[in-house]
Amino acid sequence: MNVFILTDLEGIPYVDDIECMDRGTDKYLDACRYLTDALNLAIKTCFENGADNVYYLDGHGGGGNVNPDDIDPRSKKCSIAEWQNLLQNGMVDCQIELGSHARAGTLYGFLDHTLTSKEWFSHKVNTIEMSELSLHALLCSQYSVPIIACIGDETACKQAKEYIPNIYTGAVKKAEKRNVSQTYKNCEDIIVDTVKKALENYNGVSLFNTHFPASIELTFYRTDMCDEVYEKAQKNVERVNARTLRKTIEKLSFYEDLKF
Ligand SMILES: [Zn+2]
Repeated sequence: MNVFILTDLEGIPYVDDIECMDRGTDKYLDACRYLTDALNLAIKTCFENGADNVYYLDGHGGGGNVNPDDIDPRSKKCSIAEWQNLLQNGMVDCQIELGSHARAGTLYGFLDHTLTSKEWFSHKVNTIEMSELSLHALLCSQYSVPIIACIGDETACKQAKEYIPNIYTGAVKKAEKRNVSQTYKNCEDIIVDTVKKALENYNGVSLFNTHFPASIELTFYRTDMCDEVYEKAQKNVERVNARTLRKTIEKLSFYEDLKF
């Protein structure tokens, strides 16, 4: 069994304050340590529960949040290109999302956003509002790889089930408002338990598919943000309105196909 772990920072235990996102601050360095601990715990749990290979992608903000030397040496670090290669070559059996957050525009989601909290207001595929998890799941599903577990805040976990009803979820904290969360005392047990249960039944978790051709619609916060992307966009991109772009894709092979 080959397991891929895709990490984000917002849904990691003890990362409970928006200031943790500011690179170069002490709070950010603390957050990176919490991510390192959570990732090592998840990797260890994978190997204890039947994994032959564990790959990971340090997904938050383009990576660089964990030092590979501090991560369990049995695992292998991957870039986005390497992740896609593994998927395309049938080298991944299932994926775990560690550190998930809710999609843009969600109440009670810690640091809710979709890919960029500064520019993307809404991202839809075939009129369904996407989260980062669902975008990953769409790509993985093209290669018959299920996303079997979501570990993050309560709202991220609830939302994961909207896309994949039988996904295993482990809520490690909750947010009363966007920029602050409270981590649960038993968060480590929750990670272990969720990973263990998901791996025991990884074959039974549904894929998240859509129909093709698929309509991709991206709305920006401001018109000038849309201007900038539209100017560089390919011919098949349509300007729906001041803030929204749309395109149709015949198939989904790369994560970039979902962007503009
Ligand atoms: Zn992130």
